[in-house]
Parts: sequence; structure tokens; C-alpha cells
Amino acid sequence: MTRKLYYEDPYMKEARAKVLEVKDNALLLDQTIFYPTGGGQPHDTGWINGVEVLDVYKDEGGNVWHVVAEPEKFRAGDEVELKIDWERRYRLMRIHSAMHLLEHVLNEVLPGKWELYGSGMSPEKGRYDIVYPENVNQYKEKIIELFNRYVDEGGEMKIWWEGETRYTQIRDFEVIPCGGTHVRDIREIGHIKKLKRSSLGRGKQRLEIWLE
Ligand SMILES: [Zn+2]
Repeated sequence: MTRKLYYEDPYMKEARAKVLEVKDNALLLDQTIFYPTGGGQPHDTGWINGVEVLDVYKDEGGNVWHVVAEPEKFRAGDEVELKIDWERRYRLMRIHSAMHLLEHVLNEVLPGKWELYGSGMSPEKGRYDIVYPENVNQYKEKIIELFNRYVDEGGEMKIWWEGETRYTQIRDFEVIPCGGTHVRDIREIGHIKKLKRSSLGRGKQRLEIWLE
């Protein structure tokens, strides 16, 4: 199985690896810093020996495949240089971590129960689709204020494994199973610049956040 360097150190921007197999337009490596699409987090982009990496996915065996622009340039056994688009990845790490913090903030701010039924993220923004009987707009200021206060105070994002499951926790907040990449400390997330609420009908609401 591919050694997942992005779990050992999510701040690794470059690394070396060995090509184990070339299949169609995808490379299997012995180890990788490229995060594959999963857990709501989009895959990394970047370069292998300067060749553009277009897609990264994990197969059922836990191996990570890298779809490259020019697969003919690679052979099994090649030693290669990996470089991720760090600016994109770091934005994703920040927005991903922000979504975990937002979940906790919603638990604190919204009276009664809310239910998450969809989510998404891109380097630009994060999205939660929730079911909640009241219009969340009335709590918008409170949500932003508490979120930004936590960011200012800071707090470690702990990561640990229990068997095959990976968990994360901010401070002493909710324990969340998650396979994504996170920032070390919630200070790195930065403040919420904008929170937009839109109605999806029947108490279903979309919350989108943009970071500063
Ligand atoms: Zn996560």
C-alpha cells in the first residue's frame, strides 16, 4: 500500500518517491505527498518530475494513483520528485479545518438540534447543507463572532488513529472521524470573511463560508 506522507506530515511540499507501476495515464508510487480525493476534500494538484498531476485517487486497496499529463515519460522503477501545489493544498487545509470548527460553533450557537445532510469544499469556500427549523440568518453575527474568537485564541487540532479510523479533535470539542488534512492549530484558519445563508426549502438551508 502506498505510504501516505500527507498523514505523517501534512506540511510536506516536496518529496522523492519510486514509481511502482504505470497503468494507462496513472502512476502508482511507493509513497506520496499527494492527497487523493476523499472525505469531502478535493485531491491535490502539482507536479511529478515537472509533469502536471491532473487527478489523484485512492483505489480499494488503499493505493494512491496519480493521473499525469504525460504518462509516457515514466517507467516502473523511476525515482521521481514530487511537488504539490502548496498554495491550493494549504487553502484546502484551512477551509477543511474551518468546517470542523464551524460544526462546533453551530452546536454552541444554534438552540436545539440541527442536522447536517451535505457538505463540500473548494480552495475558495466551504459549504454545509443543514436541516434546522429556524432561519440561521438571525444567528449569523453570533456564529462569526464565536468562530473568530476561537481562531484568535487558537487550539491544537489533535489527530489519532484507532485501528483503521482516523480521528480529529479541536481542543476538547467534538471528536470527529476524518481522513482529511488539517492545520496544526486553528489560528492558521484565519477569520471568516463572509457567511452566506440560503434557503433550500422546508427548513433546509445552505451555509457557505469564505475565509480572510
Ligand atoms: Zn477533517
